[in-house]
Amino acid sequence: MTLVTAALVFAEDRWRTRHGFVLQGSRILGTGEPADLADSFPGHEREDWGDVAVVPGTVNGHAHSFQALLRGFGDDLSFMTWRDQVLYPLSETLDRDAIRIGALFDFAEMAKAGITTAVDFFYLHDRGNDNDLAVVEAAREVGIRIVLARSMYDWTGAPPRYQETPREAERNFRELHSGLRGDPRAFAQPAPHSIHASSPDMIREGAALAEELDLPFHIHVAEGRYERERSIELHGLSPVALLDSYGVLSRRSIMVHCVWVDEADLALMRERDVKVVHNPSANAFLGDGIAPVRAMLERGIPVCLGTDGGCTNSRQSIFEEMRMAALMAKARLADATALGAEETFLMGTARGGEILGLPVGRIAPDHAADLVVLDLDALSLQPRQTAPHQIVYAMQPDAIRRVIVGGEPVVEDGRLTRVDEREIAGKVREVTGSWRREPVAAPTP
Ligand SMILES: [Zn+2]
Repeated sequence: MTLVTAALVFAEDRWRTRHGFVLQGSRILGTGEPADLADSFPGHEREDWGDVAVVPGTVNGHAHSFQALLRGFGDDLSFMTWRDQVLYPLSETLDRDAIRIGALFDFAEMAKAGITTAVDFFYLHDRGNDNDLAVVEAAREVGIRIVLARSMYDWTGAPPRYQETPREAERNFRELHSGLRGDPRAFAQPAPHSIHASSPDMIREGAALAEELDLPFHIHVAEGRYERERSIELHGLSPVALLDSYGVLSRRSIMVHCVWVDEADLALMRERDVKVVHNPSANAFLGDGIAPVRAMLERGIPVCLGTDGGCTNSRQSIFEEMRMAALMAKARLADATALGAEETFLMGTARGGEILGLPVGRIAPDHAADLVVLDLDALSLQPRQTAPHQIVYAMQPDAIRRVIVGGEPVVEDGRLTRVDEREIAGKVREVTGSWRREPVAAPTP
């Protein structure tokens, strides 16, 4: 048992100076004034971490790890061109080992950026779980906690390896879920892909699995304008209303994106008690727009943050998404008070843990010892009396000195402890070496 003290700690959702917390193995036992903790936890060892800020490990609510390999090959294209000319053909070339390398690459970048729990919404199943387990292996190698949101996809227009029947998806999900049961660092949650890539039966199957196994389920909703327009054209209902007509919306629904939602959708989302993963950089990168986060929060809809895939954002950092979420909410409403540093910081930490149903994202009793240690002497955190704001608005990656998952360091002095960065870069070159980016036409004068 160790009593840790530090200059600044984000404990129990508040900034506190000269504060302490008690660690035992992979867990946090308590937080408080160092003197009080010393009385409450006799027999501890004491460690002073000094002039640092200790914050909860950040939670990445939405990503697609293999897409890190595709970074740069589809930039500046429309979503459909990106999907049909980059995502589909390149994702077909990846074998199990390449999928593992993509995940290693992605999780390594995430860990360095202070992400300690990541959701991988994964869909290259080849009708089984072998590739899913390759992603889990990569997370274990890097040392981060993973939620494998196992996609359930039956639209026949996509590459065959994405597709399963609802029966296959159900059986494979159950197998993956029971295989990971009891693992404190790897979790399976069902993830019917979207209203356009999953049939109503598939979406209902995902929601039913979540209900039966007491899990949340993930689904992409209203990411692009086309999705909303098509849903209204085909069904006379918005994507949110269509899902509600299937009877699947509940407190278990984790809706990813929700950019194109209106007042009626928001009211329905609140009524059904759904949760949202907001991916501000990816939504901007793909030209999808800006989700109405202020309106969601005002209605009491819980919102956490995601990076989305490495090729639709290009940075895998939740600290970055905090900044983007705040700036884009301000820009959308032309109102600098629309979303502030404190609220976005919670979206990137505690809300993520709550929405995923995991005891992560907080420095609080009975939570995992997932911590990020920031150097208060870093230039980007000056003037230091404003550091809590600068962590959201100004911080550069060199301020991230240590990242700890379940009490074990995965980053020390800004370097990964368990994997070799150069080796990963070499493997990424091997997988992607023969790929070429199509020349982009020069703009006409
Ligand atoms: Zn996605």
